[in-house]
Amino acid sequence: MIRFESVSKVYDDGTVAVDSLDFEVPTGTLLALVGPSGCGKTTSLRMINRLIDPTSGTITLDGLDVLSVDRVSLRRKIGYVIQHAGLFPHRTVVDNVAALPRLLGGDRRKTRSRALELLEVVGLDERFADRYPWQLSGGQQQRVGVARALATDPPFLLMDEPFSAVDPIVRAQLQDEFLRLQAEIGKTIVMVTHDIDEALKLGDRVAVLRTGGILAQYGTPLELLTDPVDTFVSDFVGSARGYRALGFERLTDDVPIAGHTPVRLGDSIQGRGWTVVVDDSGRPLGWADGATATNASTANLHQTSRFLQRSATARELLDAALASPDGAVGLVDGDGAFIGVLSAEGVLRATQGAAA
Ligand code: ADP
Ligand code: MG
Repeated sequence: MIRFESVSKVYDDGTVAVDSLDFEVPTGTLLALVGPSGCGKTTSLRMINRLIDPTSGTITLDGLDVLSVDRVSLRRKIGYVIQHAGLFPHRTVVDNVAALPRLLGGDRRKTRSRALELLEVVGLDERFADRYPWQLSGGQQQRVGVARALATDPPFLLMDEPFSAVDPIVRAQLQDEFLRLQAEIGKTIVMVTHDIDEALKLGDRVAVLRTGGILAQYGTPLELLTDPVDTFVSDFVGSARGYRALGFERLTDDVPIAGHTPVRLGDSIQGRGWTVVVDDSGRPLGWADGATATNASTANLHQTSRFLQRSATARELLDAALASPDGAVGLVDGDGAFIGVLSAEGVLRATQGAAA
């Protein structure tokens, strides 16, 4: 757990960068610190590993005041990832990752083999290990930065705009990989970003700061989308909030799934309207239209519709329902077998906060 209690930072020239900030980051979760440029995000982050000392207030890690711990042992517990990765340019990739463990007295062979493992964890092929940073793309460098931050297996991780310097497609890829990685390693993370969509995607909780280092709102992504405290937050969170909120909602358990008798290829569908066609093990192949065809065949199958489990997000289900020729999403069980359909209105009725 990381906790900020009335933390402020006033720089020597009188700039109030952070103003009485309170928030907490429960163990194993990611807090996204988001806000416009200059609102004090980097300053807040760097007070955690004491690159900057607060003017007042207290920051604790698992109850321990960071000011009471010496900087070296503090930083051993805190991995740090920065924009542009900040790699040592004259060291190879593997030596970058192994640098801190080596500095802490680790054996050369062991630290190298651990570094190679970490490169694999972040999705970098071994053939990159002996290259230099300038021989890598921005996205690859960022992966090395993450591997390096994990090298001492610290319980805490600080990330400052880790994915901002790469193009949107690579960024989305890195975000997805990072979500998968965090699901495995469960670090306690503060990530700074100016990108609200990134904050909502990666954060278990999000703290929105406004200029002057003031906390505007602290909450889950769903809370920010459905219940912004003021116009600053709602403007910052952006348009289509209700629809985006559906991306964080799941169906309630009592959602009524409509029965729908599927057919197999070759069966008659005459007079039935749109009908789900399944294979021999009950898995959906697509929809066939009984208004235009007499029998279900691969030739008249609408194959682009998605069939989803009911555990998908409300947004995925609504998307699939709206894109389906019948206006209803086909649902499957954990084995992929067809179980029934749910209309777009049914999806909306089965979610709670979304309509707000
Ligand atoms: P962010 O990361 O949200 O863009 P920063 O934490 O870097 O914001 O900066 C917050 C405010 O503090 C800004 O107004 C910035 O100009 C100011 N600032 C940052 N570092 C210093 C410094 N060393 N001396 C004076 N002002 C600073
Ligand atoms: Mg910054």
